[in-house]
Amino acid sequence: MNADPAGFPVTRTPAGVARSARGARDLAVLDARISGCRACPRLVAWREEVALVKRASFRDEDYWGRPVPGLGPADARVAVVGLAPAAHGGNRTGRVFTGDRSGDWIFAALWRAGLANQPTSTHVGDGLELTDVRVAAAVRCAPPANAPTPAERDTCSPWLARELALLPRLRVVVVLGGFGWTALWPVLAGAGYRLPRPRPAFGHGVEVTLEGPGGPLTLLGSYHVSQQNTFTGRLTEPMLDAVLTRAVELAGGRADRPGAAASG
Ligand code: SF4
Repeated sequence: MNADPAGFPVTRTPAGVARSARGARDLAVLDARISGCRACPRLVAWREEVALVKRASFRDEDYWGRPVPGLGPADARVAVVGLAPAAHGGNRTGRVFTGDRSGDWIFAALWRAGLANQPTSTHVGDGLELTDVRVAAAVRCAPPANAPTPAERDTCSPWLARELALLPRLRVVVVLGGFGWTALWPVLAGAGYRLPRPRPAFGHGVEVTLEGPGGPLTLLGSYHVSQQNTFTGRLTEPMLDAVLTRAVELAGGRADRPGAAASG
């Protein structure tokens, strides 16, 4: 596998994504391989153009301009899966959900749930540590108009499949929004989970438990933390807190580790 100038191994095709994801032996290898992915030409062009042109308020910053890997420890029992990085959020900072309003919402909620040691995530190196939760996106590159195509979603799905497989204690996946809900089914089928037919419709608070190779896994639906939802009140803090509280409960209760006592 060739490396790019930053040292990340480069993947250029959907078949390459599947192969490269399958062969990643741990999260660090997976994160590096995701960071070097160039398999979706439209998204590669967009993320790099945005990183070059920048938003005026961030013109002095170096944008990440790459796919955004997940964040959180390998012993996480809870995963939070969103849609895709924002052009001037994750695509700028290089950290999932970081640098925009959606991230402000989700990290504050993770902190209230005892899953983060601080309520903010502003940049890599800001001291944030997640406990018992891994946060990832269904599509790793910022898409134009926040809208990946179904083909781009499918091309990217092996990264998420491998990421979930590399979380041996995983018990609960909180899915933010209907796009992630739809994207997750083929990922879980590929990982050996028995899926219900028909598929349960997405909704806030919807709960579905699947049997799989590593034991039961519960999917919990939540409205996405997009500004469209949070500004209009479709998603409120108590609504998001209720879903994360339920996720922690389903996972077996709060982990007794630093950060777990940080919620107010
Ligand atoms: S969206 Fe996923 S598969 Fe496509 S280029 Fe980005 S990381 Fe690769």
